[in-house]
Amino acid sequence: MKQKEICNDKIGKRNICRLIPRVDSLMEEKEIREMIREYGYNCVLRVVRQTLDELREEIRNGTREEIQDEIREKIRDEIREETKEQIRKSAMERIGENLRKEMRMNLTSVVNGTGIILHTGLGRAPLGEEVLRHAAAVAGGYSNLEFDLGTGKRGERCVNFDETVCRVTGAEAALAVNNNAAAMLLILSSLASGGEVVVSRGELVEIGGGFRIPEIMELGGALLREVGTTNRTRPEDYRKAIGEETKALLKVHTSNYRIIGYTQETPLEKLAALGEETGLPVIQDLGSGVLIDLAKYGLTHEPMVQEAVKGGADVVAFSGDKLLGGPQAGIIVGRKKYIDKMKRHPLARALRIDKFTAAALEAVFRQYLDPDRAVERIPALGMLTRPAETVRKDAEKMAARLSAVISAGDASSDRTEADITVEACVSRAGGGSLPEENIESYAVAVSAPEITAEELASRLRKLERPVIGRISGEKLLLDMRTIREEDMAYLESVFRDGKILQRDMSPQKKTYPQKNEIRQKDEMPRKEGEQ
Ligand SMILES: *Cc1c(COP(=O)(O)O)cnc(C)c1O
Repeated sequence: MKQKEICNDKIGKRNICRLIPRVDSLMEEKEIREMIREYGYNCVLRVVRQTLDELREEIRNGTREEIQDEIREKIRDEIREETKEQIRKSAMERIGENLRKEMRMNLTSVVNGTGIILHTGLGRAPLGEEVLRHAAAVAGGYSNLEFDLGTGKRGERCVNFDETVCRVTGAEAALAVNNNAAAMLLILSSLASGGEVVVSRGELVEIGGGFRIPEIMELGGALLREVGTTNRTRPEDYRKAIGEETKALLKVHTSNYRIIGYTQETPLEKLAALGEETGLPVIQDLGSGVLIDLAKYGLTHEPMVQEAVKGGADVVAFSGDKLLGGPQAGIIVGRKKYIDKMKRHPLARALRIDKFTAAALEAVFRQYLDPDRAVERIPALGMLTRPAETVRKDAEKMAARLSAVISAGDASSDRTEADITVEACVSRAGGGSLPEENIESYAVAVSAPEITAEELASRLRKLERPVIGRISGEKLLLDMRTIREEDMAYLESVFRDGKILQRDMSPQKKTYPQKNEIRQKDEMPRKEGEQ
């Protein structure tokens, strides 16, 4: 570029920067005043300043297309007003966009099309309406969380909840803490600290997310005494390991894996008898807190909390948000003398649940007073037990609705064609529960010849309310088992909008990947070991 042109260019840019509206004049605009009402003065002021800085920067870099030509010619009077108006308009638009972006919550509700019911990444069990309503009512105001309404004095947290839990599980006493990992920590710290805990080598579980039985044990100040072998542990193995230092016998449900073949597991009843004989507490970590007989619904029977209590376990721990279908919590049930000891331990205070959880837990447990009702009202159980045939009908309905909105579409020329079909697929319980269960299911499959399945999945993830699907070959699958009735209208609106199937959404023209381009591996639902 010649010296003179560069000089003109600079002057041009400086002139254009002068056309950027002033902050105080913008703040008086009607649209901005409305934004102030919605988001607050300080917030809007900050975003207005930030947006004007962005514009100025873009003009200096010459990245604003609409004024390139004007820069070359310098600003002539006749286009001065026009350019000024143009910049004002784009400033307003950008301010609105920036504000909405800034105000949007980072933690947000998503549509789960993965078919993994207790997806740890997506927040495990969704809560039912009644439960949410109760939790909102309790947490939205004051409650008797730790207040004894009989005496009018300070009371114990969760006594009402304890009663319901005991009725449902058949246990003498109950306690709830932050999660099951916390429950195990509290149990081991209060019952076995400074001593040994006997556990089978086949049950030294790693749950994922850093929860390993040996490490929790160490943290709880207990020494691990491993007995038996990976595949076989007999009652005699436990008996031989018991000594002066022994404080407890531990049984861990191998939630997320199975040992098959030449195996022998010591049944709880045998361990309980040994505990009785030696006066040692028998602790059982059940993982998922199953309170209904899953075999009744054609699924593999998982050890139930009631069975553990009846089978003689002195202390049983399980999660609130796995197959129980409630909020995140660790629930401990068992003999009163042990539970009381835990309640007095300082860790109980550090690990205690909050009022949201306390309210939601009680509400969920109440639903279990009638197991049929629990299956009807608890979303995770409903999804788990829904017959494949019902899911298929939903998939067909959804596919028809999506096909209709896509073909009706606004016929904008830059929307691609898309093929919507129904495909058989496999759902999973997730959350490390029922690892071997292939739950028969159906998905709506979306494929668009001009958009890769990865691109489509990524666009769906970037929606204001993201939709999470699964990729299978060239198709994006939305497993209808985990898609809720109220999500269906939303999905319809997403595809009606047309942007999701737009040919090119990126500002720089992007070329479409070739057919033989390396693609992400087929994302079958993984057997969620990681929890
Ligand atoms: C899931 C699980 C845990 C951890 O429970 P969280 O509620 O996720 O903390 C502990 N033990 C077993 C056997 C589990 O399956």
